[in-house]
Parts: sequence; structure tokens; C-alpha cells
Amino acid sequence: MTPASNVDILAIAAHRDDVEQTCGGTLLAMQARGWTTGILDLTRGESGTRGTADEREAEANEAARILKVSVREALDLPDGNVQNTLENRLKIAAVLRRLRPRVVILPYWEGRHPDHYTTATLGYEACFVSGLAKVDTGGCEDPHRPFKILYASLYSAVRPIFAVDITPYMEDRFQSLMAYKSQYATQPGGTGLFVPAEEIRERTFAMARYCGLLAGVRYAEPFVQKEIGLVEDLMMLPVASI
Ligand SMILES: [Zn+2]
Repeated sequence: MTPASNVDILAIAAHRDDVEQTCGGTLLAMQARGWTTGILDLTRGESGTRGTADEREAEANEAARILKVSVREALDLPDGNVQNTLENRLKIAAVLRRLRPRVVILPYWEGRHPDHYTTATLGYEACFVSGLAKVDTGGCEDPHRPFKILYASLYSAVRPIFAVDITPYMEDRFQSLMAYKSQYATQPGGTGLFVPAEEIRERTFAMARYCGLLAGVRYAEPFVQKEIGLVEDLMMLPVASI
């Protein structure tokens, strides 16, 4: 997809299909509130057991359509070897200066896959660098530092700081994941490594339901932020305590 203009909320992930698994419902919920959303995938999926990078690009574009994002781009970092280098920070910063998001969503900073937890630090540092006036990222855009950085924590055991109600968007969020037919359709290559297709629906809904139970709604996605929350009116606090 070609970028048309700035985005309000940008989700940055290591791999195509990460956003669909961790914060796709939130992107749909925010788009419905009138915000423009976007996705930046750092790699193109060339090392995956199943599917080629070209197939995954077509699938990513279909998923982007389902998630109603305005922009989806992919950088060329090596799949399976995402490193927090100055070169990579500058590549991400160039995108941040062009798209100028107020909110950036990153993966949580601990996890099984090194690309995921590296993306958390790499993305954070890219947000910092992007705001430095004297750093040249190769484009002509002004420096830009996102206001808020959130970490999508769905695949981490960490207790979320808050959750986003995605109940009306749960099915579409699941369908965006299913757009990756090369990854999730039942097929012989990679059995044993991949969860059978029929189990993915159950797992996806169960995790969203669990997070929803914690937040007093049906389906939700969990997030962590490093800052504390600021409250103006105690009477407006959501989620019942008892
Ligand atoms: Zn991933």
C-alpha cells in the first residue's frame, strides 16, 4: 500500500502477521473512532518455513484491507536477524518522520522470538532518534517524536496495564490473521512447527476472551506502558473492582 498522508497510530512489528496477532483489533477499534492507522513491518518474511516473501506481501496487503489501515509498509531488515543498529534505527526514524504518528505500538520487550523483543528496543530508540533535529535520516521531513509508546503484550505473561475492548472487531481481527493463507491454511510443510488451522481460531478467541474477562468486556487486547496513568475524575474510572 502507498502512504497517502500522516497516520495517528502506527503499529511497528518484526514480521508480517505479528500485528494481526497482537493488536489488530485495537487498530480496527481506533479506525472506527476516526483515527488513521498504519502498520510498519520490519522484515518481509523471506526466512519463513512456509510461503515466499512475495506471497506474504500479497497476504499482508489483504490483511491491511481487513484491518482498514491507511498505510502498510515493510522495511528490508533480515527476517530472523533483526538487530538494534544505528542503520536500522535510522530506517525506522525515516518512516516515523514521514508518517508522524502520535501513538506507536511496539511488541513487548520480553518474549521467545529475538526479533520480537529486539523490535521493542529498536522501535523505542528509533522513536527517540526520529526527534533529534541534527540526525539525518536521508529524507527532507522535519524531526518527529511520537507522544506515546505502547507495548502490545498479548504473547507475554506480563500483567497488562490496560486493555482495549475489541468485542465488535473480534471476527475481523481473526480474519486478518487468516489472510495469511501460506502460514495458517492446513498444509503438509511445517507440520509440527505450526498450529493446525482449526486450533488457531480457538486460541485467538480464548486469549482475547481471557483479556476481556480481566477488563470486564467480552474480547480485549492487552497493553503495557512504562509511564503511570493520569486520572482526572475518579467517578469516570472504568472496570469494576468487585
Ligand atoms: Zn513474529
